[in-house]
Amino acid sequence: MSETYPPIDPPRRLLFGPGPSMVAPRVYAAMSRPVVGHLDPFFFEITEQIRELLGYVFSTGNHFNMAMSGTGSSGMEAAVANFAEPGEKFALLTNGFFGERIGEMARRQGADVVRLETEWGAALDAQECRDFIRRERPRVVAFVQAETSTGVWNPSKPICEAAHEVDAIVIADCVTSLGGMPVLVDQNGIDIAYSCTQKGLSCPPGLAPITVSPRALDRRRARTAPVHSWYLDLTLLDTYFEGHRYHHTASATMFYALREGLALIAEEGLEARWERHRRNHLAFVAGIEAMGLKMHVAEGHRLWTLNTPCVPEGIDEAKIRQYLLQERGIEIAGGFGPLAGQVFRIGTMGYGSTAENVLLILRELEGALKQQGYRPTGDAAAAAEGALSAGVS
Ligand SMILES: *Cc1c(COP(=O)(O)O)cnc(C)c1O
Repeated sequence: MSETYPPIDPPRRLLFGPGPSMVAPRVYAAMSRPVVGHLDPFFFEITEQIRELLGYVFSTGNHFNMAMSGTGSSGMEAAVANFAEPGEKFALLTNGFFGERIGEMARRQGADVVRLETEWGAALDAQECRDFIRRERPRVVAFVQAETSTGVWNPSKPICEAAHEVDAIVIADCVTSLGGMPVLVDQNGIDIAYSCTQKGLSCPPGLAPITVSPRALDRRRARTAPVHSWYLDLTLLDTYFEGHRYHHTASATMFYALREGLALIAEEGLEARWERHRRNHLAFVAGIEAMGLKMHVAEGHRLWTLNTPCVPEGIDEAKIRQYLLQERGIEIAGGFGPLAGQVFRIGTMGYGSTAENVLLILRELEGALKQQGYRPTGDAAAAAEGALSAGVS
């Protein structure tokens, strides 16, 4: 072959879907630093910094904080594989696609999965969850704090309190809340929380941060059946990150990225970061409503990181997405499952959550809708700007 291959030159997309989100420039810079070995003292300096920074970002005093080598689903599978036991009751509280995925993983582990289901777009009801947990008395309770398939924020504290009453441990999927909304692991009483790098942390996909409470570690030690997954066995992983013995060849590059993404959060301050996400989300909603669209999720239950406006009557949602990507270089997502064709899923998270981006997304979405004959009822940009200046004072 005599052909030459020019350097890869990806299109400059604006990533405003449910993830991957916009990557912070400092993260890209960190990723171009030299690779060290997976047992290099420098690598373990980075993993120790990550342990500490994860404690801050998850708001926990847990010592067991690490990053799994894999995407968010590897964090989910690690949580389930280590704590769901064959034949034991596993209570799944679900109202979306990712809740269902947890249930499927638990069934594959042989757990006896009992489900409390709420419709896609509604939040889990605290009292229903309490009653269900008290009645079922499971060993493990699992739920999704920020359900990315619908844009719903679920209540953590009542679920954890009821679970602890019956001596169950709680797994919370914090994939789309970490780095954007108050996850508050200790304050809520979450035992196992996991996330990923490509949503609120503004890194590329590749790692799944996880934190485990001392209570859950006791449960893990008392386990009689071996964990079916070798790769995701938390005890073996601890011999790597704590004991510095070979388990797998972790990607130094991805760990640099995560260190940098977490450092950016620490420098901004967690509360300031939440407030930035809240303000930009509210501005987005103000703009959406001004142009005459409705939000799928009721006020008070919405994610600040991922918004789900309803697709107006007569509009082809897939065509809007296609136009935005191909003509404008902007990625957003659509609904799936029961919400297919019904909602847009638009991310305002991490590095991408800025006032400028909110105004840009509103303008571009409005332009795409108009192309299909939609007539906005009001001035989206003015409404968003009004909300932004009101939010600042
Ligand atoms: C994205 C996401 C996951 C899965 O993460 P991957 O990185 O795609 O494996 C799990 N749970 C929730 C709530 C998510 O949004």
